[in-house]
Amino acid sequence: MSFSNAPITNINTLTKRRDIGPTLSVVVPFYNESEVLAEFHQRLSWVMTQISGKTEIIYVDDGSVDGSLEIVKNFDAMNCTIKCVELSRNFGKENAMSAGLNHAKGQAVVMIDADLQDPPELIPKMLCKWRMGFDVVNMKRTNRRGESWFKRFSAGCFYKILNKMTPLNVPENVGDFRLMSAKVVKHINALPERTRYMKGIFAWPGFNQTTIEFERDARYLGQTKWNYLKLIGLAMDGISSFSIRPLRIATILGALVASSAFIYGLFIITKTIAFGEVVSGYPSTMVVQLALGGVQLLSIGLLGEYIGRIFIEVKQRPLYLVAGVHDCKGISNNNAN
Ligand code: UDP
Ligand code: MG
Repeated sequence: MSFSNAPITNINTLTKRRDIGPTLSVVVPFYNESEVLAEFHQRLSWVMTQISGKTEIIYVDDGSVDGSLEIVKNFDAMNCTIKCVELSRNFGKENAMSAGLNHAKGQAVVMIDADLQDPPELIPKMLCKWRMGFDVVNMKRTNRRGESWFKRFSAGCFYKILNKMTPLNVPENVGDFRLMSAKVVKHINALPERTRYMKGIFAWPGFNQTTIEFERDARYLGQTKWNYLKLIGLAMDGISSFSIRPLRIATILGALVASSAFIYGLFIITKTIAFGEVVSGYPSTMVVQLALGGVQLLSIGLLGEYIGRIFIEVKQRPLYLVAGVHDCKGISNNNAN
């Protein structure tokens, strides 16, 4: 009995081993990109034919309202599985990327924007680095075409502040376009936080990293989905999700102001005892009042930022809701959760 069972078990194990899933998954979050998706898919699917091994493309529809989903559902490619994860509404790029990572099954996962700012033709080069043993391949922009000097300058300042304020090493000018091994993706998927600043989250696991430099193109068509207000929010998320150093700076600032006030107080008391009091000092009182008020309001605001994030975390709401997972070319498998 046990004799006849043995070979069957072995065959099962072998079958399982051979079915190791795709080599590469490419995750593409998109939101209202109907103008660029066809061109993007054409370029990406050509690249996929150049890659040996099984490949998959995971499109994530972040609540598009311009018919982008219908375009994607009709996509086809040779030797490549195409899926589209349809989110129930617009959850923002950071959450859409998380959705894509949760659905990717590849041993290597590439994250890429749909607007052709990140050239898909670089994917084989990234895969080559992964085959050499790197777990993360960061793509560093040597230029930022189509972006104003102010955006470039503010982005530069932000990366400097972020790296000073957090223990992370978030590489400057490296966007979301990157390759990660399945091991890194597994760790990222296990991170429970709701406020997901992905550039920080991508940098957090560490592992064996390398960087490829590339020239970032301007958007192929359409408009950027970010305005300055959204970017400031993202920057605040970035710093507050990875560091409590701003709170510490507020404490140190408070201590400095309080000790200066104490020393100044001693000076005034001594002066009054020695020379009596003549009513004066309106300007200095005002300056001290305003400075103290400003520092206090700033610190309260800062505390509020952190409390707000605790509030979001404790609610434990899901990062996104899936309305359906579509196998492209029309076959739909509704899988809401
Ligand atoms: N995107 C998204 N959800 C959003 C905003 C943007 O999935 O709420 C996608 C967008 O379709 C594109 C990528 O994220 O594929 C980058 O967006 P965008 O080009 O607007 O950003 P930028 O390149 O200007 O930073
Ligand atoms: Mg873009």
